[in-house]
Amino acid sequence: MHVETGVLEMPAYAKINITLDVLGLRSDGYHDVEMIMQSVDLHDIVRVQRRKDDAIVLHSDTPGVPLDERNLMVRAASLLRREAGGESGVDLTLGKRIPIAAGLAGGSADAAATLHLLNRLWSLEWPLSRLMDLGARLGSDVPFCLQGGTALASGRGERIEAVQSLAGLTVLLVKPPFGVSTPEIYKGFDRLENKPLRQASRRLLERQSQDGLFALFHNDLQEVTAGLYPEVGELIERIAGMGGRGVMTGSGPTVMGLFTDSAEMQRARELFARQYPETYVVRTI
Ligand code: ATP
Repeated sequence: MHVETGVLEMPAYAKINITLDVLGLRSDGYHDVEMIMQSVDLHDIVRVQRRKDDAIVLHSDTPGVPLDERNLMVRAASLLRREAGGESGVDLTLGKRIPIAAGLAGGSADAAATLHLLNRLWSLEWPLSRLMDLGARLGSDVPFCLQGGTALASGRGERIEAVQSLAGLTVLLVKPPFGVSTPEIYKGFDRLENKPLRQASRRLLERQSQDGLFALFHNDLQEVTAGLYPEVGELIERIAGMGGRGVMTGSGPTVMGLFTDSAEMQRARELFARQYPETYVVRTI
């Protein structure tokens, strides 16, 4: 975090799903899940700055980013201020680099960074656990984004437990040129006749070594998203044809390319980058 007079900023890291198991539909409409979540070094930049009035104003010049209450950063600032009993206004600035509606939890990461920064700017000194309880009210991925690293997420995704770090992996990310609505994908999952019960998260946690780690990546929603958006399935097949393993992250449409051979990954990156401007090589952190 970087401090000037009344200005604080920090990176807001994207996440990938190493695993995503859907355990079932709950009576409140959410799904019980188990996911191994992992931060990656692809990030937005979030900045907060004191204002003289009591307004909460978001600035961003990226097309497709809502600047009003629909933005999770604005909601995070309003909620924290209300719960903390404050009245201060704040300018929020978002430098967007994480693809939007991509399965990379960009909005949740921005909200988490906003909470961390305002906790400091307003000298609240809330512990992480309290910020995470508040974050869960903004979105299921916000508590993970507040903590970061490698974690098992359960419940509707908001219960976070740190697990053995998977930092240091290199992953190719390819985002097709459309967004996906998470509720739409979960509805599609509910309609599946034969629901998978793979317990991929458990198997990953019980692994004896890092050998064959990429084979343990799994996403229960992949079949649904690929069914609705064939380009996702095609991407996964093309990655396999290039010597890697393709697995979707979140509810998609971003596909991760997992390669044990870095030259093969570079070739895949160059090829995909010509067709998909939102192609990245990221490191897990
Ligand atoms: P998840 O992986 O949690 O499903 P995502 O990466 O698919 O998240 P986001 O990029 O967080 O999706 O954004 C989904 C929608 O939320 C966007 O279409 C946008 O309208 C809205 N949104 C709210 N806050 C933000 C934000 N800070 N940045 C980008 N989009 C935001």
